[in-house]
This record gives sequence, C-alpha cells and structure tokens, in this order.
Amino acid sequence: MPEPASDVLIAGGGFAGLALACALRQSLGPSFRVAVADPAFARPPSDARASAIAAGARRLFETIGVWAAVADDTQPILDMVITDSKLDDAVRPTFLTFGGEIAPGEPFAHMVENTPLLAALVERAAQGGVVLLPTSLKDFSSRSPSAHRRVTAELGNGQVHATRLLVAADGAHSRVRAGAGITCTSWAYPQSAIVTTVAHERPHHGRAEEHFLPAGPFAILPLKGLRSSIVWTEEASEAQRIVALPDDAFHAELEARFGLHLGEIVAVGPRRAFPIGLAIARAFVAERVALIGDAAHVIHPIAGQGLNLGLRDAAALAECITDAARLGLDPGGPDVLSRYQRWRRFDTVAMGITTDGLNRLFSNRSDVLRLVRDIGLGMVDRLPRLKDSFIHQAAGLAGEVPKLLRGEAL
Ligand SMILES: Cc1cc2nc3c(=O)[nH]c(=O)nc-3n(C[C@H](O)[C@H](O)[C@H](O)COP(=O)(O)OP(=O)(O)OC[C@H]3O[C@@H](n4cnc5c(N)ncnc54)[C@H](O)[C@@H]3O)c2cc1C
Repeated sequence: MPEPASDVLIAGGGFAGLALACALRQSLGPSFRVAVADPAFARPPSDARASAIAAGARRLFETIGVWAAVADDTQPILDMVITDSKLDDAVRPTFLTFGGEIAPGEPFAHMVENTPLLAALVERAAQGGVVLLPTSLKDFSSRSPSAHRRVTAELGNGQVHATRLLVAADGAHSRVRAGAGITCTSWAYPQSAIVTTVAHERPHHGRAEEHFLPAGPFAILPLKGLRSSIVWTEEASEAQRIVALPDDAFHAELEARFGLHLGEIVAVGPRRAFPIGLAIARAFVAERVALIGDAAHVIHPIAGQGLNLGLRDAAALAECITDAARLGLDPGGPDVLSRYQRWRRFDTVAMGITTDGLNRLFSNRSDVLRLVRDIGLGMVDRLPRLKDSFIHQAAGLAGEVPKLLRGEAL
C-alpha cells in the first residue's frame, strides 16, 4: 500500500486549522507533512469582523511567527467597563471595571481585524511548507478493515488523499464531524449579533465597553485609530429589521445604544447579523479524527471567547501530536486522541456553561434579576483577587495551559 500523502490533513483553513498547521510544521519540521484543504483558498481572505484576541492566543501567534505581520494594526485593550441598564435609562452606571494587564506591559487582549490576521496565517503556512489545497473535503473513511492506519479522504476536486490523522477545522456545520457520526448538544438562542464598525470623533483610549441591555449585550471594542468594532445582540427578528434599515434610521438605532461620549459617530463598513447558538460536540475525537475550533464547539459571543477556545484546541492538539511524533508514535493513534480529548472537553463544556449562564442572567427584562446581578457585579468590583482570576480566565491563562499559549515553542 503506498505511503499516505500527508501525516495530518486539516479540513478547514480558518484560524484554528491554520494555527494548527503552522504549529506542527514549526515543531516537527519538513519531514512531517501537513496539508490543509479549504475551498476559500481559491480567493483572498475576506471577513469584515474583528476579534478580541486574548493574551494566550496572542502568545501562540507570536510563537508561530504570525503576530509580527499584524501587530502594527492591532489595538491593545487597556481597560474595560461593564454597565447594566435599560435602553432608555438616562445614565448607565458602571458596575464593574477591569484594568487590562495580565503582566506588566502585557494587555489581557488585543483587537485584531479578521482579514489581515487570516492573510498572515495563510502566508506563514505557505512559507512553512504546509500544502494548501483550494478544495473542500467531501467524504472520508477510516473504519474499513483495509484502512491500515490511515484515513482516506475524498476531496471536492475529485482527488483521493490518504493521511494518518484527519482534523476537522471546518467550522460550525462541520462535514467531518457529521461524517464521523458525532452529534452535538445544541440549541439556538432567540438572538442574533449585529456586527459593524463605527468611526468616532474622539479617541477610545483602548477602552472596551460592554453594555448589558435587556435584549442582550452591546459591546464597543476599540480598533486601531478612531474606530471601534460593534457586536450588538438583539432578538433575531429585531436584528434583521435593524440591519435592513436605511442608513439614517440605522444611525439613530446605533446612536441610541452607543451614546455620544466619543463624539459624533458614523457606521463604516458592512453590517451583518449572525445567528447565535450553542453547540458542543458529544466527542472531540473518533477513529483517526480530531475536532477543533467551531467544528467542536460554538458558544455565545457574550465573552468574545469562541475563537480563543478554538486556538486553545489547536495548541493542545499540536502539543499532543508533537510529543507522540517525537517518540516515533502514530499521530492519529488512540493515545494521542484520548489525551487531546481529556485535555480539551472539560474546559470547553465549562466555557459553554459560563457563557450560556451569563446570557440568561443578563439578557432579560426582569428587575429582580437586574438587582441580583448588579449586587454581584458590585461585589466582584470590590474583590481584586476575584477580578484577577477573571482576567486570567479571559486571557486564556487559567487551567492546564498549552505550551504555545504560554509563549513556549513546542
Ligand atoms: C458576531 C461574532 C463575534 C465574534 N467575536 C469573537 C471575538 O471577539 N473573539 C473570539 O475569540 N471569538 C469571536 N467569535 C467566534 C469566532 O468568530 C469563531 O469561533 C471562529 O471564527 C471559528 O474559527 P474556526 O477556524 O474554528 O472556524 P471558521 O472560521 O468557521 O473556519 C472554517 C473554515 O472551514 C472551511 N470549510 C467549511 N467546510 C469545509 C469543507 N467541507 N472542507 C474544507 N473546508 C471547509 C470554511 O471555508 C472556513 O474557512 C465571534 C463570533 C461571532 C458570530
């Protein structure tokens, strides 16, 4: 039987898939063959969103040689304020503030625009010798008796690609996950997130704001320059109505929530509403298959942690594969896969429950719940050690932290 075409084939060249590919080539060198299949490689990357990249994820990007390409255009989050009010309240009292450093000179997160970050990852992967296949994964088989320690994948361009390990990094509607027979615990929230970019007159000084309003959180996240990224949660039908409004009516809705503390504002760039759901795969592995990123879990964007969780998966899987490959072991073998699953599943379920609980607690019109949460926020604000532990969680530096998120090469 001929040698497999790769040691690891990754279906999906989003953030999680490309980060894993770069990390594996860096740690295991040119003899370890990594391929990524994604039809999106046929065109230049394009995603109008921006993401809050936690400190751990930034260290990963720095270690795999991607951060330098985007650093000049990122915006550190220097502090964060949280308010809780109704839309028509005259003032929005601040209940909680966070100073933004996890170590001297190291902000707990940076805002980064998705398109340049994806472009930098694609370039780094290509330079590092990752084989980029501009096609989809259609089907695969790892269970037949003739499998011989390999997965046989059928690609959208008609080619057949054999590999030792198939990684599902193909997003929320993962074909690989479905093909492996893995189901999800999932539900849809009756909410959508409107995303747009706003230019404003006055500087934001690196401050992120999260305003908890009855329909859901309205987040103002600082971008480089006099701009901020908006993630604005509304009931789903209301979100559809708002994004379809003419510019002046959209501006009025935006200003009612944004306020005038940064001077005059104007929405720049496209606006889009994203459906919001929670889905956690019932297993993160199957025979010669591992799930990472949104293919393994989708969570509410309330804490801006979805991508950060996916990068944590990529870092943990890269570490499991590297440790095994250095001992001459099979990268798709059961020991590698069960170590990866043990490492990542609990952390993910905990984050899913936390974001779900936060959304239920904050996105409602109950005055009683409002009183309870405001007392809670006020107490957290007075307990520096508790605040510190929240900051470390949000920075992705709590629990069993993969080496790449600690800034250590594998
Ligand atoms: C409104 C909103 C705001 C958010 N803000 C933040 C934030 O601030 N911080 C944060 O951490 N997270 C945030 N997230 C979450 C974050 O965007 C996602 O978790 C992240 O993009 C998932 O990355 P991924 O690489 O796992 O999947 P994706 O980015 O979905 O990439 C999947 C890739 O797989 C490819 N693909 C699909 N099917 C196939 C196939 N059959 N074969 C081959 N390739 C395939 C696709 O073309 C795509 O390139 C937000 C999400 C939303 C909705």
